[in-house]
Amino acid sequence: MTKTMIADSKAGGKPAHRSAFEEVNFHLGRAFEILDIPEEYRHQLGSCYRELKVQVMVRMDNGKLKEFFGYRVQHNGVRGPYKGGIRFHPSVDLDEVRALASLMTWKTAIVNIPFGGAKGGINCDPLTMSENELQRMTRTYTRRIDMALGPYRDIPAPDVNTNSKIMAWMMDEYSRKHGFTPAVVTGKPIPLGGSQGREEATGLGVFFVTRNIAKELTIPLNKTRIAIQGFGNLGSYAAKYLHEAGAKVVAVSDVYGGLYDKNGLDIPALFDYTRKNRSLKGATGGDALKGDEIFGVDCDIMIPAALNGVITVPVARTIKAKVVVEGANNPTHPEADALLRERGIIVLPDILVNAGGVTASYFEWTQNLTQFYWEFDDVRQKLEKIMDRSYYEVGAIVKEKKVEWRLAAFILGVQRVYEATRLRGL
Ligand code: NAD
Repeated sequence: MTKTMIADSKAGGKPAHRSAFEEVNFHLGRAFEILDIPEEYRHQLGSCYRELKVQVMVRMDNGKLKEFFGYRVQHNGVRGPYKGGIRFHPSVDLDEVRALASLMTWKTAIVNIPFGGAKGGINCDPLTMSENELQRMTRTYTRRIDMALGPYRDIPAPDVNTNSKIMAWMMDEYSRKHGFTPAVVTGKPIPLGGSQGREEATGLGVFFVTRNIAKELTIPLNKTRIAIQGFGNLGSYAAKYLHEAGAKVVAVSDVYGGLYDKNGLDIPALFDYTRKNRSLKGATGGDALKGDEIFGVDCDIMIPAALNGVITVPVARTIKAKVVVEGANNPTHPEADALLRERGIIVLPDILVNAGGVTASYFEWTQNLTQFYWEFDDVRQKLEKIMDRSYYEVGAIVKEKKVEWRLAAFILGVQRVYEATRLRGL
């Protein structure tokens, strides 16, 4: 971490443009200051342990070889094996993967599960690739990073544009060399050692957190109007659970556009629609929304559930919600975060809000290692307990230190990782 970043964080800053990894370290710097972390540990906690960049050559269906780049970054492993998703997206690069890997370190510490932080990805556009191309690419990537993986070393999971099918291919490729190893990835299909409830866990976790903040602000959930950007795994399940609890989901959107209805959208119909059609493209039942318009809709709670970096200063100016619940990883730029604070809008941070996914991954890994499988209700109950506990632990820091939720969450995560680092005597 550079001196400027620490100075910016001391100034409570309106920093100049930074990369995604620098933005995460900006928040980290503020937690270091409050916790008075010794200088010699700051660099270690703010940098990555191992970074792999691999060439992934794929024979495309047209017979031509195409080059992609794959990444796996292991940020910090003092509290357990590295853990983090694999993203397939054209924007994937080393800096983005570093940022997301770092967030995983703090997230696993906040929910207090025995993992470190990692992330991976390939700079491809999966929406334009066939299933066979995706399978060849996934297998080649797995072979290239194989030496860094393992059930006690590093355990990937799904993220943007990856799913249980891709996790099955990764598990199969790894198992060819090492013997049957379901615990090497999580988010697998149930017949291959996946956990009940893993698929819906991140959205369910978002629901638990949203329910808790609504209760704290004494807004009855059945009077709450919610807008959700992103209707993939996380966004669609968050919408489903919020709708089932009586909330009015007034707007949803995905990469193709969105829908708005001030009386609430028909979420079960949209949920089924996206299961059949893979996106909201062509869906009806509300007024059409384009681009960033969803952020400006009249609502009480805004949930970004798509990509990072979407809440910029101009977007933050348009937000009408009282609370932003960050489902996506790293959706808010620090300057926009500061503006939302100035405007009195509460921001619940990604590292708390979307931790339900990695928590259910922890359950899956535990079940794979013990070969003893749990019912859905067990998973849901244990998930609720961990998400609620984490919410109240972060909330206690908000009150005690009079800081905002993001800083409080970083403080909790850094405390735990720093303590483990000292105890291990590194
Ligand atoms: P996904 O691929 O299932 O869905 C992504 C959604 O975002 C899709 O609906 C896509 O159309 C939409 N989208 C993409 N670009 C967009 C744009 N420009 N405007 C509007 N919508 C856009 O991915 P996911 O698993 O739901 O992940 C979403 C976010 O949640 C990511 O930031 C991811 O890192 C985070 N997350 C996911 C999990 C998980 O378990 N799935 C866990 C933790 C965090």
